[in-house]
Parts: sequence; C-alpha cells; structure tokens
Amino acid sequence: MSKIKAREGILSIPPYLPGRPVEEVKKEYGLAEVVSLANNENPRTSPKALEAMRAAVDHVYLYPDGSSRDLREALAVKHGLAPSQIMVANGGDQIIVLIAEAFVNEGEEVIVARPSFVTYKTAATIAGGKLISVPVKKDSLEIDLEATLAAVTERTKLIFLCNPNNPTATIVRRREVEDFLAKVPDHCLVVFDEAYFEYVGDPEYPDGIEYVKRDKNVIVIRTFSKIYGLAGQRIGYALAPEEIMDTLFRVLPPFPANRVAQAGALAALSDYDFVDKVIKENNSGRAYLCGEFEKLGLSFVESWTNYIFVDVKREALSLSADLLKLGFIIRPGGGWGYSTCCRISIGTMDQNEKFIAALKKVLNS
Ligand SMILES: *Cc1c(COP(=O)(O)O)cnc(C)c1O
Repeated sequence: MSKIKAREGILSIPPYLPGRPVEEVKKEYGLAEVVSLANNENPRTSPKALEAMRAAVDHVYLYPDGSSRDLREALAVKHGLAPSQIMVANGGDQIIVLIAEAFVNEGEEVIVARPSFVTYKTAATIAGGKLISVPVKKDSLEIDLEATLAAVTERTKLIFLCNPNNPTATIVRRREVEDFLAKVPDHCLVVFDEAYFEYVGDPEYPDGIEYVKRDKNVIVIRTFSKIYGLAGQRIGYALAPEEIMDTLFRVLPPFPANRVAQAGALAALSDYDFVDKVIKENNSGRAYLCGEFEKLGLSFVESWTNYIFVDVKREALSLSADLLKLGFIIRPGGGWGYSTCCRISIGTMDQNEKFIAALKKVLNS
C-alpha cells in the first residue's frame, strides 16, 4: 500500500462513467456498426467546420493561439458582448472545473440540482467546496428554483443551473428565473449551463447572456460539442461580466483549446444552414421517438434537447446491456437515482428507426 494519500474529499468523487466508446463495443461484440446514443452527441458535423479543420491540421506543429482571439471576437459579435467578457476553453467541462477553482473557497457551499450534470459535483469537490443538492420536482422532474433559493445560506458561493437540465431535458422559464435572480443574494454566483441552448424552441426559455449584459453575478456556459457536432474536438466557451471574467481568466491554463478545434469552431459559427438543418432533424427525430415510446407504453419527460429521459418501466441497466449487444449504447439512469429510466440521445432518422426496432426486440424477448 502506498503511503501517498489523496487530498481530502478527492476519493469521494465517483469516477466519471461516460457511455462506452463505439470502437470498444464494436470489438467486444464483433459488431460492424455501433450507434452511440449515450453522450448527447450530434450525429452530424458542420461541413464548413470539417473543411477548416482539415486545413488547420497542416499547422499543428505550432501552438494554438492561447487567447483564441479570432474566435472570441467572432463570438463577441454574435452575442453582442466584448471579447473580454468571453473565454474559450477545452470544452464546457473544463470551464465548470475552472469556475469552481476560481471562486470556491474550502468549505463554501455549491448548490446543484439532483439529478443534474455530474461534473458540477466533481468541480466542487476538487475545490474543497461543500455540495448541497436540491431534488428536482417530483412529478415534472423540473429544477425547483424555490427550493434552490431556500437552500441558499451565508456560505453559498456557487449555484449551478443546468438549463436545459441534463439528464432530464427540462427547462426553467424566464419569469421563474428572473424572480430567482432577483432574490439570490449578492455573494452567490449563478452559473447558467446552456450546453443545449440552440435546441430549445420555447419562447419563454431565457437566454442567460441577457443577464451577463445586465451585469448580474452570472456566468453562462455554451459549447461547440452539441449543436455544431464538435464533441471530439473539445471546445466550449463562457460569458460573464468583465470583473467575473477577469477572475476566471486567472485560472485558465496556457493553451486550453487546440488549433484544429479553434479553426473548426470559428467556421462552424457562420454555418447557419447547418444549424437550421440540425434543429429540424432533431425535432423530427424527437417527435418520432416520443411517438414510438408512447406506442410502447413507456413514459418520458417532455424534452427541449437532443436527448430524452424515458421511463422504460423495468431495470434500465439490463435493458441497456441487451441493447449494447445489438449495437446501441444508451445511458441507464441508476447513477442518477432513477433505475427504471434511461437517457437516450436523438440520432439521425435512420439511427432512430433502427434503435426503435432494436428496442422492440429487447422488450419482446
Ligand atoms: C455536454 C455538456 C457540457 C459541455 O460539454 P463539453 O463537450 O465539455 O463542451 C456541459 N454541460 C452539460 C450539461 C452538457 O450536457
């Protein structure tokens, strides 16, 4: 036994369990085709981004621009902010950890919903913060902002608000959010994780960037992983009022986003046709899958994203193991405390149809 001990609290972080890699499942089950519906990836990538990334590969002997200047300037124009209010990093995941590192002192409280994105807990623990989790509403599985507010104390430093929430795919709406922001005390920083922002079609869905513009104590997180189909490139960004951003920049490593990713992200930003197409196809995929779930007697939470939280009304872990053998990777809900639920990403229509055929097979066997 080694005498080297981990820092206090670190071993309480459960290892992150992503959906298994497609390559690994192909090998294990001898399958020619495997579809990942486990990580909410976009099954398509912006063609403009692909072209720009191919060109950027020729220059990978050079370090990237550590300040991502071109991309931050383009994002500043798109969002109507100054480049100094925007930070680009190695995915939204890295930004979540940086936020905790920059703001949370040992013992300060970090409020998250339960269930929500697991990285918040990891980030809070790394920083030595105390995690306070607030259950989502019992029937709708929506984040409970009143209960969140009630959990705020003098020790609260951060509140992570995942909107839409991962894994439940629910949103909180403008009126509720503004009421909440008005009551949150000045010593709390509210983080709006809007990884799925572009997918939400509800007119009452609030744009966190509005609160950055109003100089509230907020940070907004967005990513190129989902809507632009660049999950494998690891690139995302944060937006915040200048003073908050200045603090966050202090903990940013030297070259957070790689050269190829920056080129792809910049090109993707102006690929409006691609974004339109993704949203349309995702909407029809969602309608198709929900229709089929209904026919199968399965219930699900209304989704505002590219994934659906479904109650399969049996042990989801064994169901997902059966689906794996047929080449479909999904995420069972046991880890979130919902052992009969799954989170299923929406694929291309072809993938969705094949998935439903596989699901029927498994349910009937
Ligand atoms: C996917 C996701 C992110 C960020 O993903 P990156 O690939 O690290 O940019 C952040 N928050 C939530 C809730 C997500 O689902």
